Amino acid sequence: MSTETFEFQVEARQLLQLMIHSVYSNKDVFLRELVSNASDALDKLRLAKLRDDTLDADVSDLHIELETDQDARTLTVRDNGIGMSYDEVGELIGTIANSGTAQFLKELKEAQDGAGAEGLIGQFGVGFYSGFMVADEVTLVTRKAGEKQGTRWSSRGEGTYTLERVDDAPQGTSVTLHLKPADPDNQLHDYTSVWKIKEIVKRYSDFITWPIRLVGEKNGKGDDGEGAGPETLNSMKALWARPRDEVSEDEYHELYKHIGHDWREPLETIQLHAEGTFEYQALLFVPSHAPHDLFRQNMRHGLQLYVKRVFIMDDCEALLPAYLRFVRGVVDAQDLSLNVSREILQQDRHIRMMQRRLTKKVLSSVKSMMTGNPDRYATFWREFGAVLKEGLVTDPDNREALLAVASFASTHEDGEAVTLEQYVERMPEGQDDIYYITGESRETIDNSPHMEAFRERGIEVLLLTDPVDEVWVDAVGEFEGKRLRSVAKGEIDLDAREDDRSEDEQKQQAEAYAGLLGWMRERLDDDVKEVRLSTRLTRSPACLVADANDLTPALENMYRAMGQEVPHTKRILELNPDHALVKGLNEAYTEREDRSELTDAAELLYTLAVVAEGGRPKDPARFVRLMADRLERTL
Ligand code: ADP
Repeated sequence: MSTETFEFQVEARQLLQLMIHSVYSNKDVFLRELVSNASDALDKLRLAKLRDDTLDADVSDLHIELETDQDARTLTVRDNGIGMSYDEVGELIGTIANSGTAQFLKELKEAQDGAGAEGLIGQFGVGFYSGFMVADEVTLVTRKAGEKQGTRWSSRGEGTYTLERVDDAPQGTSVTLHLKPADPDNQLHDYTSVWKIKEIVKRYSDFITWPIRLVGEKNGKGDDGEGAGPETLNSMKALWARPRDEVSEDEYHELYKHIGHDWREPLETIQLHAEGTFEYQALLFVPSHAPHDLFRQNMRHGLQLYVKRVFIMDDCEALLPAYLRFVRGVVDAQDLSLNVSREILQQDRHIRMMQRRLTKKVLSSVKSMMTGNPDRYATFWREFGAVLKEGLVTDPDNREALLAVASFASTHEDGEAVTLEQYVERMPEGQDDIYYITGESRETIDNSPHMEAFRERGIEVLLLTDPVDEVWVDAVGEFEGKRLRSVAKGEIDLDAREDDRSEDEQKQQAEAYAGLLGWMRERLDDDVKEVRLSTRLTRSPACLVADANDLTPALENMYRAMGQEVPHTKRILELNPDHALVKGLNEAYTEREDRSELTDAAELLYTLAVVAEGGRPKDPARFVRLMADRLERTL
């Protein structure tokens, strides 16, 4: 039969190069990856057969086989699972479907050190390719369950691979690694050595629920003698069903790496055994890093669902709410039908009960982390805080528990993140509200004019920079009876102000500015609904504020991005009557008959307020022209 040669997709080629020049120092893990794929293939076949028992496939002895050949220097990983069709081999092995890969490769290039690169690799499905860390040629023979003809794939990892149809392929997949020449100085890394293989399997794959057998006839002399019949290397114990004190941290971590497709240790391991009428066991993991696609629509998420130790499905979303989509793990239920579908799960009363219970369990674990291990909590919140806050909007039942574990950057001098509870505790006498500011980044909000009066008076303000912040503060509204108030919304009446200015003075000032304010409102009618004097500003000439119930510009943009039509909300322009620019403008306004010159100044003042809060001028070129013009006149 004819052999066809294909080119690897660009990204796949780049990844292969990385594997060949091995950015990963611990090469042993290639075997874990291949065994993991084999195990998935067996899960898939059992499930396919369960769904359709006419499927022409033998499921009587599903297993994984490892075979070494010292003379030929090969290692073969074989499974009798689901297999792949000719097209699937090309699609799954020749390309990298993961859309984040390009980004990954970019990050990888930027990663300064080997450790950074190692960490990055774990986030992406490079499983199969890791074989090229130890082999200079890899051959894969596979036959898809139910099909007659098989496929042989082969590559030296150098840009091309070949595909060929074969007639005599057994069911499943076998991957043969033609190992790189042995390193005489480093016997430890001889992957044809039986004890080496045993050690790796024990360390990384013991929990795999299928037997991993070593077939050794072809092992040459020099090994530890166990050459003959197949020996099962793994204990196959489901970790989630075993008492926690019998299982080592390492064992849990290896299971996490298998199901999480992550090469790094998890941050937290959470176990739950539910007894009673609906029995189940859960073993959940919080990763130590947010996945790159956490905020993408099509991110794969959800737990693995087992029914009485039988794998049923991956990515079972129904078991946890979307705001816990980063949690990985296994749930094994006693009394579910093996034939459950995703649709049924969404409706199922027991599943909903499980979801509630698992959610509470995760949140209480975060709470314990917060009190018991603040550093770990800080990592958790840095990686996943933005996702958890979605729950403040979507899950009112757990709002309190979520607020208890949420922390925020703040202007407080200690520079530490603060919880709402801590904020309220240290609120000084006379302050009734919890103040916050939202914005795109720390820089823009740190220097925002809205903050000036608060800074001057030493009033603590929460600094919120995640897009979701705009939404949850509205949804939550208050905490322990204290209103959540934006420093950029409504009239801010900071008491101290009244001390430095008598009511009379204020009245006089209001009268003196009345003309200018009214005139500016007319000039800026397209953009603002009111122009008034400010109590929030000390150094800036002007700022924009919203009415307490108005949408902020960020929210407006967010709704538009989601395809909703929202009217443009006009805001209020506040002027600082103590600022020389504003004073000068008022004088010019009162003295001059011809005010055409001043129109530009009014527009500039407005645009400066837009820029100060990190916004973009409506017409940047015009803004620059006006500005340059003014500057020139000062020279
Ligand atoms: P990942 O396992 O992270 O998806 P891999 O590169 O290891 O990435 O594998 C890509 C895909 O190839 C798998 O998702 C699976 O569909 C298929 N595959 C790999 N190994 C096997 C196997 N032994 N049997 C069947 N399919 C396999």
